Amino acid sequence: MKKGSMHTTVGIIGGSGLYEIDGLSNIREYHPTTPYGRPSGPLVLGTLEGMQVAFLSRHGQGHRIAPSDINYRANIFALKQLGVEWILSVSAVGSMREDIQPGQIVIPDQFFDQTRHRINTFFGGPVAPGVVAHVGFADPVCPDLARLLADACRQQDVVVHRGGTYVCIEGPQFSSKGESRIYRQWGVDVIGMTNVPEAKLAREAEICYSTIAMVTDYDCWHETHESVTVEAILETLHRNVECAKQIIRTALTSLPIERNCPCESALKMALVTPQHLIPLTTRRRLAPLLARYIESSPPRPNRVKRPSKRPQRRLALVPKSQGRK
Ligand SMILES: [Zn+2]
Repeated sequence: MKKGSMHTTVGIIGGSGLYEIDGLSNIREYHPTTPYGRPSGPLVLGTLEGMQVAFLSRHGQGHRIAPSDINYRANIFALKQLGVEWILSVSAVGSMREDIQPGQIVIPDQFFDQTRHRINTFFGGPVAPGVVAHVGFADPVCPDLARLLADACRQQDVVVHRGGTYVCIEGPQFSSKGESRIYRQWGVDVIGMTNVPEAKLAREAEICYSTIAMVTDYDCWHETHESVTVEAILETLHRNVECAKQIIRTALTSLPIERNCPCESALKMALVTPQHLIPLTTRRRLAPLLARYIESSPPRPNRVKRPSKRPQRRLALVPKSQGRK
């Protein structure tokens, strides 16, 4: 999709501390419905750095929706309905490593799922019965988008750690010290509560996903730092949220016109169910995801073949050379 077209290509999901995006022009609100219900709030559409973007506040206006209650499927599906190809996520995280300090930024390249009450797929269940897909998730973050975000961070003179594993916990409580120490032994780098469902659903929707993880605290494992509190998180966030907005603007100017990453065709080999067995209602509901690969309307009935009036040539079963013998 060409830059500057009216097609919305970039979705921005703002987390704690980032509830709006500055500098948007031609602003309008979009209140979508999806087969999975309504997203966290209205999507704010507009133009930023020459790109059509859609901004969504992950926790809703006024931060009213807890991590376990976010309708992740509706959020990602609504962005897909708009034609979004890239999702830039902004998230507050705790650091699980001494050298990743509050105020710095991590661009994770791996996730570890410790959630228990999230629905992480569009396929199956009461909304989309009769279809199974297994997308690859070995590399859960778009490599191109991650590189672009890391470069944008460096231009903002902020310390950025490229790569790292984000452990996603259910919450809403912060970890116990025991949990925090165990996560550190597992070798994770940052901790948060929201990114895994988003990344999995974005992959199923063939949308590139990467997150700007803003480090706000040392969770509760650190001996000399106070345990994480909401107050400390918000204080660090307010200092960094302007920086995040600038990183987004810089990243937008460098997005390629065409995607060349595997995310773009993640579903191509992932659908296991043959097309003729997928119920028509499922095909129609998931048309924004599946229309590239399967029809969303019933096949036209076969026309009855009438016998041809012209005499049919009989197939020569024996090669001519042999027949002449
Ligand atoms: Zn990608």
